[in-house]
Amino acid sequence: MPSAGVANLRRDNAGLVARAVFDEPGVSRSDLVEVTGLSAGAVTKIVSHLLSQGVVREGAPTTSSVGGRPRVPLRPSDEPYRVIGIHIGLRWLVGALADLGGTIVHEETVAHGSTKPGPVLDGVAALLDRLERVAGRRHVVAAGLSTAGWVDSRRQVVVANPDIGWVDVDLRPLLAQRRYATHVDSTVRALASAESRFGTSRGVDDSVQVFVGNFVGSAASHRGVIQRGSHQAAGLVDHLPVGAPGPVRCRCGRSDCFGVLATDLAVAEQARRDGLIGESGQIEDLLELWRSGDRGADRLLRRRAVQVGRAVGLLANLYDPDTVVVSGHVAQEQHLIDLHKGAAERLERADIVSRLVHLTALGEHALTRAPAAVALAAFYQDPLGALGALGSA
Ligand SMILES: [Zn+2]
Repeated sequence: MPSAGVANLRRDNAGLVARAVFDEPGVSRSDLVEVTGLSAGAVTKIVSHLLSQGVVREGAPTTSSVGGRPRVPLRPSDEPYRVIGIHIGLRWLVGALADLGGTIVHEETVAHGSTKPGPVLDGVAALLDRLERVAGRRHVVAAGLSTAGWVDSRRQVVVANPDIGWVDVDLRPLLAQRRYATHVDSTVRALASAESRFGTSRGVDDSVQVFVGNFVGSAASHRGVIQRGSHQAAGLVDHLPVGAPGPVRCRCGRSDCFGVLATDLAVAEQARRDGLIGESGQIEDLLELWRSGDRGADRLLRRRAVQVGRAVGLLANLYDPDTVVVSGHVAQEQHLIDLHKGAAERLERADIVSRLVHLTALGEHALTRAPAAVALAAFYQDPLGALGALGSA
């Protein structure tokens, strides 16, 4: 038996190599020597172990035009492990299974009966059970949960989500029963985490993620680390003034706040008032109308994009990032010009707006890829430890 110190060092080095493969799928063993600073012998040994454990897999060897030894690309394994990502939204839960490379392989949506914490958390427990069943013989190695508002990821507590009336909702009792590690974060921080791995802010040091859904949120990353603040409350942007006062009064008393003017709820409400969609119509109905070429729908969505742009401009002044990534339904290629317009109205350096403000590249599964990315980031801190814990559970 190796001593505990040596065993820990081996685990740390295995984590280093596995993370490098996750960060740069397709790397070869010689790339890994360069990236990790480990010896060629150590890398060979660790890669063999990670292959035997099913954490990484080999692709087809390639030879360069100048000849030499074939290069064997290494990628995160698509079998036999899964991570779970669950997004707790205003109207529904969305849950998914992803492989170790972050590709979503299964996704399902469950509508809430009520937004009260009890029924929603029962729904999350049932969804976790079902996703574990869908995973079948594949082992779930970690799960990530995300929801909007002020979320304390250390304590796994939703401190406040005023829009649905959640205060100090503790997720630990629900999650503690699982045999794999669980992680909780706010929707927008989870999106920022996924975006920096798979999306627009990949390789960017300083970025700001802005999410506009039924709620709004932001997450600033400095040197690749998401800033959480002293009380895990950094990035709450509900009360940024973004336009002329609207019909809904914010809980702060004003009517020009980002959180009441520019959300999916607000724009759907306006569309109902304007008679564009039916009385029970939602954002999806408005988007469908817009895709069919409706001018009224386009006008509404463009106005919203300008409002979101103003929030983006204010945030860019605060953080001076390399990139601002906008996600949610507002992130439409056709409305990027309106986002830029709104941002330029507020930016001190309006000339850089088109270099600065970009749309998400996370695609249709963004809301589940995000919490899955949180789970994966934690898994890759100590993959062999996570698998060992699973075996001894
Ligand atoms: Zn307000």
